[in-house]
Amino acid sequence: MRALYIGRFQPYHLGHHAVIKQIASEAEEVIICIGSAQRSHELDNPFTAGERYMMISKSLREEGILNFYIVPVLDVNWNAVWVSHVESLIPPVEIVYTNNPLIERLFKERGYEVRTPMLFNRSEYSGNEIRRRMLNNEDWECLVPRAVVTVIKEIDGMSRLRELTRRDE
Ligand code: ATP
Ligand code: MG
Repeated sequence: MRALYIGRFQPYHLGHHAVIKQIASEAEEVIICIGSAQRSHELDNPFTAGERYMMISKSLREEGILNFYIVPVLDVNWNAVWVSHVESLIPPVEIVYTNNPLIERLFKERGYEVRTPMLFNRSEYSGNEIRRRMLNNEDWECLVPRAVVTVIKEIDGMSRLRELTRRDE
């Protein structure tokens, strides 16, 4: 069985990691789509698709998990064709895992089995909370896999995020 998991991963955190580890132990292969791949250098979307790719890939490899493929997916801003767009980019999958109600609806309408994984510590394991902590110099490292800390330090992601709050006035 091949499974699909979709997120923006801004950044990849321990909630995503727990779910993907679980799926990878049950499915033969996990296809991980990096959504809104074209977005970066924005307060809500600071990291490029390539940077997010490194975060996911290094975190999973570090745990010896190798049965995954990562596919960046650009937005099409057209919900009715979005599933076909994703299908055109990924290997065939049987099951879609998501907590996003719109993604659930769109894949169900195309006949897919959709499963809703458990949420882990959602108040802290959240992209929004992690970006907030980065901007306020609070501890965010404890909310992401170690490999993600390394990637964000390597690309100097903290100062990128801080500079994104500046104005030209
Ligand atoms: P943001 O706050 O930027 O929206 P996010 O934490 O919701 O970030 P996404 O990349 O938007 O992360 O989510 C991808 C998928 O991961 C979604 O289906 C989301 O519901 C799920 N998810 C997010 N946080 C958790 C968590 N703590 N445990 C399990 N699944 C999670
Ligand atoms: Mg989200």
